[in-house]
Amino acid sequence: MTRFTGRVAIVTGAGSGIGRATALRLASEGARVVLADWSEEGLLETASLLPSEAVHVERKLDVSDEDAVKALVSEVKEQFGQIDILVNNAGISGGSYPPVTENEKADWEKILGVNLIGAMLMIKHVAPHMQERQQGAIVNTASVAGIRSGAGGNPYSASKAGVINLTQTAACDLGGYNVRVNAVCPGLVETGMTKAVFDYARANEKEHKLGSRCELRRYGRPEELAAAICFLASDDASYITGQALPVDGGNTASLNMPGMK
Ligand code: NAD
Ligand code: ADP
Repeated sequence: MTRFTGRVAIVTGAGSGIGRATALRLASEGARVVLADWSEEGLLETASLLPSEAVHVERKLDVSDEDAVKALVSEVKEQFGQIDILVNNAGISGGSYPPVTENEKADWEKILGVNLIGAMLMIKHVAPHMQERQQGAIVNTASVAGIRSGAGGNPYSASKAGVINLTQTAACDLGGYNVRVNAVCPGLVETGMTKAVFDYARANEKEHKLGSRCELRRYGRPEELAAAICFLASDDASYITGQALPVDGGNTASLNMPGMK
């Protein structure tokens, strides 16, 4: 018996990076996994890596499109009869932004639309089913950028701060139904989203700098995030709800202040 035997999980952003690693880990521990992503190419690649016994649906889903979210959830309910786990992981960064004095409203609407409103829409449509069954676990992928920000961090940071707050709200709304809601806050992880950062560092002999702000002195791997997400999604975390767990090599443990080592 493994942790997710008999469970059905939906993973958004499953076509790449952290979402892909999470889908693989869930399946390796017995879950049937529904892969959802905007990118069809990414979905097909993830599907090709899944063990054949892990049933899955491939779907080109935009999490910020409520009609599409609604359709996916009813299709999954019909096909599997249950949804035990939701991993709200789809996200975009859009790179770095100019100072707030030069921010574009359209950038804010796009990033908040996917990262924050997308997560809310998935919860809105999946949670009633979990409430009915009086069981369920939701894990949102926030970011250390939602805990603290930095120059050029808007609006990504704001969206992730919103995801942490949504995690608390949803945990309060759903706790009475035995549905848990938590978040992970990744530090720097090598994925599609951070490819440009890694490519630049490698091309300029600055790779050592990529982990320099972490107390573990290295960046993270998608599998290390998947492990934390799967912990929060599992019964091992049965008394944990409303929390945002940094998985960041110690990044947020440090003030990074001059004179402090
Ligand atoms: P990634 O780009 O490799 O994966 C993100 C996936 O989400 C992609 O497959 C993309 O197609 C999908 N996606 C984007 N918008 C979507 C939408 N509207 N609907 C459905 N799917 C959509 O990046 P990743 O690093 O694996 O990102 C996963 C999550 O981790 C994101 O929420 C991201 O913000 C968060 N995160 C990443 C890092 C990091 O350093 N990589 C750090 C903190 C937080
Ligand atoms: P990043 O800087 O994080 O790579 P991108 O804007 O390049 O952000 O988007 C990453 C991925 O997210 C793209 O490959 C694309 O498939 C998907 N994506 C971008 N914008 C949207 C959107 N509005 N809705 C759905 N998916 C999107």
